[in-house]
Amino acid sequence: TVSILWFRQDLRLEDNPALCAAVKSGQFYPVYILDDENAGDWAMGAASRVWLNSSLDKLNHSLAGKLSLYRGNAEKILPALAARLGAGAVYWNRCYEPWRIGRDTNIKKTLNDANVVVKSFNGSLLWEPWEVLKKDATPYKVFTPYFRACRAGTLPAKPVPVPKEITALKDDEALSLEDMGLLPKQKKWVAQMHSHWDVGEKAAQHALSDFISNGLDRYKKGRDYPSEKSVSRLSPHLHFGEISPNFVLDKILEQSAGENRDHFYSELAWREFSYYLLYHFPKLPDENFQPKFDGFNWFGSQADLKTWQRGMTGVPIVDAGMRELWQTGYMHNRVRMIVASFLTKNLGVHWREGARWFWDTLVDADLASNSASWQWVAGSGADAAPYFRIFNPVTQSKRFDENADYICTYVPELAKLPTRYIYAPWEAPVEVLESVGLKLGRDYPEPITSLKASREKALSMYKDLAG
Ligand code: FAD
Repeated sequence: TVSILWFRQDLRLEDNPALCAAVKSGQFYPVYILDDENAGDWAMGAASRVWLNSSLDKLNHSLAGKLSLYRGNAEKILPALAARLGAGAVYWNRCYEPWRIGRDTNIKKTLNDANVVVKSFNGSLLWEPWEVLKKDATPYKVFTPYFRACRAGTLPAKPVPVPKEITALKDDEALSLEDMGLLPKQKKWVAQMHSHWDVGEKAAQHALSDFISNGLDRYKKGRDYPSEKSVSRLSPHLHFGEISPNFVLDKILEQSAGENRDHFYSELAWREFSYYLLYHFPKLPDENFQPKFDGFNWFGSQADLKTWQRGMTGVPIVDAGMRELWQTGYMHNRVRMIVASFLTKNLGVHWREGARWFWDTLVDADLASNSASWQWVAGSGADAAPYFRIFNPVTQSKRFDENADYICTYVPELAKLPTRYIYAPWEAPVEVLESVGLKLGRDYPEPITSLKASREKALSMYKDLAG
């Protein structure tokens, strides 16, 4: 009999345990289902869909055009497909979003009831979340002991190579990529975003080797500087599973030992920790991890949120980050922390609003990492930044964007100012602004809030919360 290989967050051939099992079983149909119905509120955002469109195209090429595409409720589509194609088994790699776990459990039951074998594999994580627990069998809530326990346990599985002969079949009734309707109407936005990325498995492997040759040996320090090329930019590739964390780790551990390698390993582990938290605390995307935040008075307005989204707050590093996000679908980690701190602490807007915007605009939008990181910055999360840690955007940009290169890339209207005023143009004397033809409020906004006053307000509110 034939089988079905259900691709999900594993759009690759290399190190794909479900693919290996399907190939071993004989002839199989590789399929992908866009299931917005079950995803509900967490249906993929616009930028992710742009990425997915290209990624499916690339995967289809690697499968010699045999990838079958569908859209709709996978709980209905998959069992019907198995019956129509006469499949005796379905293989997939596991996902960890709460809605996917619920859905997949139902699908497994329906298929088993119809005598179809289901086999699932770990294709996305170094450690399964249920394998790493404290002595009292409860989950860790703090990263360092979690990572220590991970490292003390079983070593992550070695990557498995691409099977030699893949005999995939195509369902003639499947949809075309265009029928999937993944691309939004804004063609200019899509083209602009595309110009920053190569999508697909080959591109992911290339990004990894490029990082190993050109970024890794300065990673620990360099990763804080947004205009440096010291980070891997692997996040969208990892999110869509164009490359596996096991493959990445394996290649990284082949490099000479040292603080850079260790630090990169620990960042990969933050991704793991985010999945771990989401698995054990499935309300993470929607509710404060620390319930004491439930009574917090988020005083920010919709207008503040809009201004932040548009990169028009008048605070240059914040605007640069928000514009990088819009133009490229990515934002450097240091800047993500700065803009998130600014939104939640200086503007008093709920972290969920920020997470929502990121969800729609990031190409690496990931329910686990995005929810965990937003709660971390807001202070409501597990092992979160303490409440008094309010990033000062001006100090941060002076420190991590020394020549203001990053700011000027995305906020070119400030480029003519002497560097020391670029970080906080409202501090520049009028003659200086005039000498470069810049008028605040006309050419670039006045700051949306006073950094000092809003910081003090946040501090006192957070202090009340801490009791
Ligand atoms: P590198 O520095 O090269 O790190 C390598 C890999 O490690 C990354 O690709 C990523 O998979 C993982 N990683 C690194 N830092 C983190 C982290 N802090 N948390 C979890 N994983 C990490 N990351 C996402 O993948 N998706 C998101 O939706 C997301 N939202 C975020 C929201 C906020 C407010 C913040 C502060 C961070 C968010 N991050 C998210 C984490 C981090 O910013 C990105 O993973 C990182 O910037 C991706 O760039 P890179 O691949 O070059 O990272």
